[in-house]
Amino acid sequence: MPISRRTVLVAAAGVVTPAIAELEPPAPAPESVSPSDLVTVHRGTLPIIISAPHGGGAKPSGGVARTKQNQTAGQSQFVTVMDTGTAELASLLAVILTRALGAKPHLIVADFHRRYADPNRAPDLASQDPVGAHQYAAFHKALRAGVDDIRAAHGRGLLIDIHGQKREPNAIVRGTRNGETVRALLKTHGDEALTGPKSILGALAAAGCRILPPNDGPQEPLAHEDLFDGGYIVSEYGSHNAHGIDAIQLEFGTEFRAPDRLVKTARDLATAVACFARAYLGLADPPPADEENRIDP
Ligand SMILES: [Zn+2]
Repeated sequence: MPISRRTVLVAAAGVVTPAIAELEPPAPAPESVSPSDLVTVHRGTLPIIISAPHGGGAKPSGGVARTKQNQTAGQSQFVTVMDTGTAELASLLAVILTRALGAKPHLIVADFHRRYADPNRAPDLASQDPVGAHQYAAFHKALRAGVDDIRAAHGRGLLIDIHGQKREPNAIVRGTRNGETVRALLKTHGDEALTGPKSILGALAAAGCRILPPNDGPQEPLAHEDLFDGGYIVSEYGSHNAHGIDAIQLEFGTEFRAPDRLVKTARDLATAVACFARAYLGLADPPPADEENRIDP
């Protein structure tokens, strides 16, 4: 049965009620998003962006579904299947991370269905009509603004691009173009920052998640991203670009996105991101929450 983001947020309300209130209804859209844009944008103050480009299910007004026949180039990259549960996962992650770190990450979610535009493709492969192109542009305008905000305020930061995959249902697959999109992070802190115990993927592994490629793989683990090695978003905004930040694509297997598993996945991911943020982004724990705002263990 399909689940809505609201359903998941309500289901998790007992866990993080005060922060839910902060996220619903959405914060006023920044200048980059107009009311006709089917993009959810929450601006944050942390040097962290959470994006979910394939979790939306909405049809834009006047939108026409893309077809493979109309794809003039790159037909092998033509996909219209949504990544079920990833919009909800991104929203939950933002809520729990806000509690853990005492400030909000940026959250950018495409609410339009992938059949109308694909935010994780280059512009010439992403849409087939002006409606789709408009939604695509709205998503990327918000993402660019978030990256620019972080660079201006912090100098560096992290983009976590959340996806879903079915090929390895019980695994989370890393995509950094074999380390390219986290070039600045690796240069400063070494491979440990991507695969070590205080990295996001290391902390997820410690929580019992199966990680691909394995963190403790061959001597050159970063050169083995052969399943999903990172799409357009991480390649466009990653720190190998002059105006980028470190960017990691995470593809969550089907099991992690099951309705009865999603809150645990979000908690494990938030714990991992908070661990990384303290170790590599210089973020400290917030002051102890009062009893009313406490997160249940
Ligand atoms: Zn995806």
